[in-house]
Order: sequence, then C-alpha cells, then structure tokens
Amino acid sequence: MVDLAGQYQKIKGEVDQAIQEVLDSAYFVGGPAIKKFQNNLQNYLEVKHVIACGNGTDALTIAMMAMGLKPGDEVITSNFTFVATAEAIALLQLTPVLVDVDPETFNIDISALEKAITPKTKAIVPVHLFGQTADMESVMAIADKHKLFVIEDTAQAIGSEFTFSNGKVRKAGTIGHIGTTSFFPSKNLGCFGDGGALFTNDDQLAAMITKVVNHGMEVRYYHDLIGMNSRLDTIQAAVLDVKLKYLEDFNKARRKAADYYDKAFQDIKGLRIPTRAVNSTHVFHQYTLVLSDELDHFEMQNFLKEAGIPGMIYYPVPLHMQKAYLDPRYKEGDFPVTEKLCESVISLPMHTEHSEETLKYITDKVIEFARSKY
Ligand SMILES: *Cc1c(COP(=O)(O)O)cnc(C)c1O
Repeated sequence: MVDLAGQYQKIKGEVDQAIQEVLDSAYFVGGPAIKKFQNNLQNYLEVKHVIACGNGTDALTIAMMAMGLKPGDEVITSNFTFVATAEAIALLQLTPVLVDVDPETFNIDISALEKAITPKTKAIVPVHLFGQTADMESVMAIADKHKLFVIEDTAQAIGSEFTFSNGKVRKAGTIGHIGTTSFFPSKNLGCFGDGGALFTNDDQLAAMITKVVNHGMEVRYYHDLIGMNSRLDTIQAAVLDVKLKYLEDFNKARRKAADYYDKAFQDIKGLRIPTRAVNSTHVFHQYTLVLSDELDHFEMQNFLKEAGIPGMIYYPVPLHMQKAYLDPRYKEGDFPVTEKLCESVISLPMHTEHSEETLKYITDKVIEFARSKY
C-alpha cells in the first residue's frame, strides 16, 4: 500500500544526519529539535500554535480534555472513519453521536450534522477523510450558530487546502478551534514510529494543550490539572522536520499517481473514481474506488492479491455496527451512505514512489477484474 523504504532511500542522508544529531545531543524527550519542528510546522500550516504529542489518537483525546469536555457531553463525528475518532470520545466518557457522510466526498454530511445537535452537544469532530477537507465553511457556520467547539481530525489530510466562498484559503486543521493529526508512518507526513500533533490559533487552548500533554504541569512538579504523558520523541521530531520540507512534493507525487488512476478508470464500467471536492484540494492519503453492485470488493481484493497487488478496504464495518460501539440508539439501516460505502469501497496502493510501470500493472489488473463482471 505504501513504499516507505523507497521514500527513505531518497532522503536517507538528511534523515540519518538529523537522527545522529539527536543521538549526539542526548535530548531524547523535549529539547530544541521539538521546538524547531513545531515552529516549522506552524509556518507551513500558517497557524499560531503547534503542539506535538504521542500519536493521533492522543491528539484527539487531548483536544477534548483541553476544551474541558465532561462525561455525558455529546460529540458529533462522522460514522465513516477510522475508529480512533470515536475511541477518543468514548474513552473520556463523552457520548459519540454518529452522523452519515456525503456519498461523493465521504466527509461529514452537513444536513445530518445539523439534525444531530441536541442541548447536550458540545463539539463536532469533522474527519478529513482520505485526503480532502470536509466542508469546513458549513461546519463552522453550524458551530458558531450553536456555540460548539470544532476539532478537525486531520490525520489523513495534512497539506490539504480548503477554499472559502470569499476566496480565503486555509490549510486543513487550522480552521476549527483545534486541529489534530497523526504522524503514523503511513500518513502523508509520517515518522519512524508513533507521533501526533495539535494545531490551534487560540492562545488559551494552546496553553491548556501544552499542560495536558505533559502531566498537567507548566512548572515542573506543579500539577494544575490531570493530564497525560503524550509527547513526541525527539528523534521523531528530527525525522519529521526533514520530511516536512518534502511534504508538498510528496503530496504532488500522490496526486500524480491519482491522476494516472483516474485516467485509466474513468470510463470503466463498475468503477467510480474519487470525486474531487470543489472547495478542497486532495492530498490522496488514500485512492479509493467505489464499486458497482456487480463487483464485490472482497473478491477484487483477492484477485489483486493473487497478482501481488495489495488492496485495502477502509472501512469494512461502520462504527455503529462495531462490537465495541454497539449502542441501542443505532441500528442497521440508520446510516445508509456509510453502510453502502463499507460494502463497496476499495483503496489501491498510494504513496510517493509509484512508477508508471507499477501504476500500469495495477490499473490493468483492476480493469481486468472489472471487465470480467460485465
Ligand atoms: C490514523 C488516524 C488516527 C489515529 O492516529 P494514530 O497516530 O494512529 O493514533 C485518527 N484519525 C484518523 C482519521 C486516522 O486516519
């Protein structure tokens, strides 16, 4: 699905040197390399504060802790997402309220979102799925109207840009009150282990986040609140600081691969290529096809596997049908779009190192499978 070894080879000299510098400095937690990376990411995102943390799931948890959300508060998120989004909500004993997604962009359905708001609602967590920013103009309008916090889950969309109707452009994760991201190795900006970060333009929230990530303390051994131990390792910050310089190029390479896929699949019966949102750029964390009813996605996955091609189904089961998240409020059929997508999507290998040769091999095989069903 990804070619992390190939990508590493291209930047090995710089990355190895950056790691060596951390080893020599013996600053393994904290230190100047963390500050440098946070500053560089701030500049790239054009956001006032970046606070690194242990991983993307913690980032979501920390955001909700920093906002002071309390057990029983309702937090709305989209049903078609990686489990971490709902997990963070549930772990804090907040109530995850699920809503369906837009069938074209796979991002939160705005009318469903508005309908899900109750007097207990405190926050909305839009997920920028597969590399496109959710309709943040509408999300923010609803949040303003109902006085709700917005946490953007940007784990899959770092570098994606959202254009408002007045022409203003903002990077994903910098529009809501807090943006969160993950530096898991396979993400668009990935480190060599676990990592994550939070973004905000709000000084007060930034101060809270800074305390939460480090045992609720600002002054060492004076604990103002109950926090966590969730920090980015310094070695990871050094790796990320090198990779950040190439993020735009990485995302461009992904887009180029996506263009190749689009062109090959656009007229093939049974395959629906990804819809590109009008107000967001796409950084193609995933390249995801929607298959017609004639094509079974598991069957295609097996067919590709036989040909040595990985294909992944993100996500096979909607959150409301996951064992751990079963909830009497929800039943099968309540989220028709999500449920249908879970039965019909398949993601193809997507990374920064695709050659035209491998793309041709993959697209030929996908087309061969699709044609065999008509
Ligand atoms: C990867 C991911 C996360 C969690 O990130 P980790 O660093 O693995 O904890 C959260 N949300 C979404 C949408 C993700 O894709």
